[in-house]
Amino acid sequence: MPELPEVETVRRALDARLRGRVVCGVAVGRPTFYRRPPAVALKALEGGRVAGWRRRGKYLLLDLEGRGSVVFHLGMSGRLTIGKDGPHARLSFRAGDDEIFFHDARRFGRVGGPLPALGPEPLDPGFDASVLRAVLRGRSAPVKALLMDQRLIAGLGNIYASEALHLAGVRPARAGGSLTRAETASLAAACRRVLELGVSLGGSTLDDESFLDPLGRPGRMQERVKVYGRRACGTCGGPVRDTRRPIGGRSSPHCPRCQS
Ligand SMILES: [Zn+2]
Repeated sequence: MPELPEVETVRRALDARLRGRVVCGVAVGRPTFYRRPPAVALKALEGGRVAGWRRRGKYLLLDLEGRGSVVFHLGMSGRLTIGKDGPHARLSFRAGDDEIFFHDARRFGRVGGPLPALGPEPLDPGFDASVLRAVLRGRSAPVKALLMDQRLIAGLGNIYASEALHLAGVRPARAGGSLTRAETASLAAACRRVLELGVSLGGSTLDDESFLDPLGRPGRMQERVKVYGRRACGTCGGPVRDTRRPIGGRSSPHCPRCQS
């Protein structure tokens, strides 16, 4: 599932390419397959000039001059591509010489509608130990579940939450409120580090079904992960384990040697 670095990679590519262009030829996918985007979103798109693309958590916002914004969410495996047709376009439109397709075969994505309430951006300058401390304090839920709760912190999913916890040396099943001040500080820094690394590497592409940027290019973060999708820990070489019970319905790879 695309997380903050993948969504940011998409944002940068679309913003660089489409800014200033006028959207036309908006077409929606089969209504029996996809829920139709709200009329207000389609109306804003058709004939609108692209002021830019912004990101909030895992959401993309297409800003249209004088027409507000249209929200995009890639869902589980949605892709926004430039100039590549396919059988599952949820939405398509032209902008200048390019045709943009929103492919969403698994239908978990979304176009239009309001942005939900989201927690702080972990890459904002203001995101520090005290912000994370306020998120975790007094909570008995596993720290990993809290990191992935978009209402508490925006943008982290399984890959980057697992990697941040590994980098901070904290096990995923620990109760959020049990982290010491030092652990919280190192986890806040670790969230920023792994997300920045992911952005700088164009996101992570773990298998065929996985992420590609709008021009079809894979990311390289998967070459740098220490526990996610690995058998051996990238730091100590010991075996990567999963928690006995899934956290938030997901696997929770971690290294018992490097994380306590
Ligand atoms: Zn290790």
